[in-house]
Amino acid sequence: MLAVAWLDWPLLSTDGRQEDPLIDDRRREDDWFRENERHLLQLARAAREKREGERAHREKAEELARLKKLHHLKCPKCGHDMKEETLDQVAIDRCTFCEGLFFDAGELDQLLLKNSEGRRGFFRHLIGF
Ligand SMILES: [Zn+2]
Repeated sequence: MLAVAWLDWPLLSTDGRQEDPLIDDRRREDDWFRENERHLLQLARAAREKREGERAHREKAEELARLKKLHHLKCPKCGHDMKEETLDQVAIDRCTFCEGLFFDAGELDQLLLKNSEGRRGFFRHLIGF
């Protein structure tokens, strides 16, 4: 009974107009639903963005694996197979077609740091004399 009496009691809005308590309740209910829907949309958007990020990461990894498989031990100049050789105790890759050489990181440094006699021998061997 007290609640009914309170609901029948006219409310004044901030601008001084009289408000119907039922309209005010509906407005609060609408606000609650609107806020709840906004929150649910935020959650759905965050979940979608997470799935997109995971998919992009997975596709990038698959693309890198595909490219590695496609180019692994292929000559960067002509695309033919590379064959590993040992020159002066350093493993290098030589193209089976154009005979281009590929040094892995640090291999050239290893060869250049050898003594001068060894370097001359290495370069003579490299050019086939
Ligand atoms: Zn080649």
